[in-house]
Amino acid sequence: MELFDYVVLGASHAGLEALRAIRAHDADGSIAVLDREARLPVSPTVLPYVVSGKCAADRVALRERSWFDTQRVDYRQQAAAAALDTANSRLRLADGREISYGKLLLATGAAPALPPIEGLSDVSFHVLRTLDDALALRDVASKAGRSAGRAVVLGAGLVGMHAAENLVRAGAGVTIVEMRGQVLPGYFDPLAAARIEAVFRDKGVEVLTGRRVKQVAPRDEGCTVLLDDGEARDADLLLAAAGVRPEVSYLAGSGVAVERGIVVDEFMRTVADNVWAAGDVVQTRSFFADGTPAGGILPDAVEQGRTAGMSMAGDPGVRPYPGGVSLNTYGFFGRRALSVGRDAPEQAGSEWDVLVRGGEGADGYLKLVLREGRLQGIFGVDVLFDPGIMWELILRRVEIGARRDALLENPQDTARALMSGLWR
Ligand SMILES: Cc1cc2nc3c(=O)[nH]c(=O)nc-3n(C[C@H](O)[C@H](O)[C@H](O)COP(=O)(O)OP(=O)(O)OC[C@H]3O[C@@H](n4cnc5c(N)ncnc54)[C@H](O)[C@@H]3O)c2cc1C
Repeated sequence: MELFDYVVLGASHAGLEALRAIRAHDADGSIAVLDREARLPVSPTVLPYVVSGKCAADRVALRERSWFDTQRVDYRQQAAAAALDTANSRLRLADGREISYGKLLLATGAAPALPPIEGLSDVSFHVLRTLDDALALRDVASKAGRSAGRAVVLGAGLVGMHAAENLVRAGAGVTIVEMRGQVLPGYFDPLAAARIEAVFRDKGVEVLTGRRVKQVAPRDEGCTVLLDDGEARDADLLLAAAGVRPEVSYLAGSGVAVERGIVVDEFMRTVADNVWAAGDVVQTRSFFADGTPAGGILPDAVEQGRTAGMSMAGDPGVRPYPGGVSLNTYGFFGRRALSVGRDAPEQAGSEWDVLVRGGEGADGYLKLVLREGRLQGIFGVDVLFDPGIMWELILRRVEIGARRDALLENPQDTARALMSGLWR
């Protein structure tokens, strides 16, 4: 049986960053990277642009094979993990082969969660997580566009909204169904979401919020979608974009603890000896003490991958993972919305301070959320700022205090000044 000092399972953002961190500290250890895909690694974030045709499918690889060779890493495609035996430090692959590890990283990401809708398994529908998903959706979207067909998108999260836009661009009529009361719940407050929704409506998208799909039934080459208020829509294309679940099917009986994701400590160690986990597959701890949910985003996957890799290699520079702060940059129909951190709770006490610029009809919308003089969240639609700097202001707990009005008026320059004061 083959034995590697390090085995990294999953060659995407978390796995590749861990790999870089391991090699930076351990030049000689043997490393295998295993991924279930037959293709080179691809970031899921690029998939909406593959659907729209903006990105060519053969130009979206995160790494070429030669990169793995220069890192002296044994990179294996079509190597899906099927079972993990932590007592004997062995991984069994779907084709029956077994691999032994000294240290193992689980970075298998997430998979689309299918909503419990009657009849869903009887109709043909799409999801968007892999390059194959994107290519299949691109083909059927352009067909629906050519024939002016209708697409129904289940879920108005980032994946659903990106896909809806691309379907409109392809020429299809689009209906979005979201069970919560607004689009992009969890990313934007109702005011910001209403602005984004208005742009979609202007482009002809039917946005049905506060409604659920109750049932779907086959119809010709598509399906009929029945809503909970008794209305129905015929769909030539159905896309399920109603959230994700961690990809942990191979962990049954392994002893690795899984709750909403794999349970890890601040160095991304699982409860099993010599097994780490990072990225969308883990249950991310929130940076905020109240446990505001975080995770499921690329910067977190990278940060966690780095922490895990440094910890695996015994790098003394490793620092505990501080917890996730959400950060999203959302482009739609040539406009831009940015969301960093958390909103204030509904029953906010006097320690909270919420400042808003740009009410109804104004050009842009900006909202700042502070708690005890420190930034907790910043949300903008058509107001530009660097979300990375805001992210740093939150993570470093920078005192905003007297600069709060300046930050609202001119977020970019004020944030830069605050950060440069800190570095000096
Ligand atoms: C359409 C879409 C758009 C997105 N847009 C954004 C965005 O704008 N901004 C943002 O921050 N985040 C975005 N995200 C989320 C972001 O892509 C993820 O947070 C990020 O990819 C997580 O990286 P990861 O390495 O943890 O997992 P993944 O990228 O999911 O990679 C997991 C890897 O593990 C492999 N794998 C899975 N199971 C097995 C197995 N059993 N054996 C071997 N290999 C396996 C998979 O093939 C895959 O290569 C988007 C996601 C999607 C789907």
